Amino acid sequence: NSFPGDDSGNLSPRQTPGVLYSKAMPTPVANPSLLAWSEELANELGIQKPNHPNDVAILGGNYVAPTMQPYAACYAGHQFGNWAGQLGDGRAITLGEWQTTAGTSWELQLKGAGRTPYSRRADGRAVLRSSVREYLMSEAMHYLGVPTTRALSLVTTGDQVLRDMFYNGNPAYEPGAIVMRVAPSFLRFGNFELLASRRENQHLRQLADWTISRYYPHLQGEDKYLQWFREVRDRTASLMVEWLRVGFVHGVMNTDNMSVLGLTIDYGPYSFVDDYDLNFTPNTTDLPGRRYAFGKQASVAYWNLGCFASAIAPLFSGTEELVKELEAYADIYSAYYLKMMGNKLGLDQVKAEDISLVTKFDETLAALKPDMTIFYQLLIDLPLHLTDEQELTAYFSESYYTPLTEAQATLLAGVLKEYIARIQQNTCSREESQQRMREHNPRFVLRNYLLSLAIEELEKGENTLFLQLQEAIKTPYSTDHDKFFVKRPDWATSKAGCSML
Ligand code: AMP
Ligand code: MG
Ligand code: MG
Repeated sequence: NSFPGDDSGNLSPRQTPGVLYSKAMPTPVANPSLLAWSEELANELGIQKPNHPNDVAILGGNYVAPTMQPYAACYAGHQFGNWAGQLGDGRAITLGEWQTTAGTSWELQLKGAGRTPYSRRADGRAVLRSSVREYLMSEAMHYLGVPTTRALSLVTTGDQVLRDMFYNGNPAYEPGAIVMRVAPSFLRFGNFELLASRRENQHLRQLADWTISRYYPHLQGEDKYLQWFREVRDRTASLMVEWLRVGFVHGVMNTDNMSVLGLTIDYGPYSFVDDYDLNFTPNTTDLPGRRYAFGKQASVAYWNLGCFASAIAPLFSGTEELVKELEAYADIYSAYYLKMMGNKLGLDQVKAEDISLVTKFDETLAALKPDMTIFYQLLIDLPLHLTDEQELTAYFSESYYTPLTEAQATLLAGVLKEYIARIQQNTCSREESQQRMREHNPRFVLRNYLLSLAIEELEKGENTLFLQLQEAIKTPYSTDHDKFFVKRPDWATSKAGCSML
């Protein structure tokens, strides 16, 4: 393609008006060593497992093949609701596009491969902790069926990286690592916002046309920008619903972290919820505002889509239609949400009169804050003959973090009685309904405390738990990993500490 770029190779931090990317060679590391490799993804891509130091050298940024043209993309964004101006890939370097024999194309990117013109005052590096988190979680989301970028490899660099000075007050070195992440594209809302903010309308149109022809090729004709916005909106709404389905909190939903393909992108201070707490945020820098809390993600996505709509507005002669499509988000999101909840609850279909049941379920979970994963797993096998409040609430006792108050018990029993009556009206069999629930309610989720334990072990050179988790993420709907089917332990109740660096 012929996008304007800065090919000087100059890595000093700066504004780069007029270009969409800057050439950026990875900075070599001391001793790249392969820690993890995604076999299935590699097979899909048709890439062989590294079996030579040169292969690992590529994954560590120490060797760049002649066919690669490494660059860092320039983008902008709104961070925590404020315009942040130019951001760009500060520690991600795209090596190029990989074509599979099946005809699909994947962008291969090294995260943590050193400074780029967009690193500002940071080091362009990633630590083992954050890299393990990105590697495992992006793959876990894939196997959960949630749209996401992927991770092909995880290498340790042999270098020490300075981190954590903000939390403890004293500098701490951590082992460095690099993830090769993979996606059809890492384009974000922020790539378009950058061009709009600079009034580079020709480039804006060029990027939009390219994105559409490449990733939305079925959209053609005069109307294509509007249809494109509609699809980005729908994919974004659908992604929010998927996050709610599995209990995922992204943690940094800035517009530079919003994929234009509707993928989960940029795994920083994310976490699954353990207890169903709509106010939960894993991001310690998002307190006390909790802008990106679990229960706010759907409305933040709408706000972000507003930024995206503003950015592409120059492509339209009038914005009335665009605004109308933006405003349709709420209804579309609700429709997706209800459908998803119908599946989680095992309803044959969601009728208008089911809406109040779904709402009551949401309200009850929010009030009781049981373990979300365990609660829904228990719900699958709820004995439908139960009528007694005591029996109904005792049935879920494994999922509570605190004993129910009397009012809570009454609330839960009331909703369950309504639920049982509704399930008995299903036109499908109980087995079919339960099967649907099993397919939509994960039984294994990569809980934050499990990740912390695995990382702690890895830092001591021990990989047992890491390997177990790497296996468990592949079949999250099965009972194969029931040794992990337990509530978050008390010692892990502190919810802070998912540093995004
Ligand atoms: P994030 O909050 O992770 O989406 O990052 C926001 C911006 O900071 C992006 O432009 C990142 O590339 C940049 N950034 C984050 N960490 C680093 C780092 N260690 N070195 C350079 N840039 C970084
Ligand atoms: Mg980011
Ligand atoms: Mg990040």
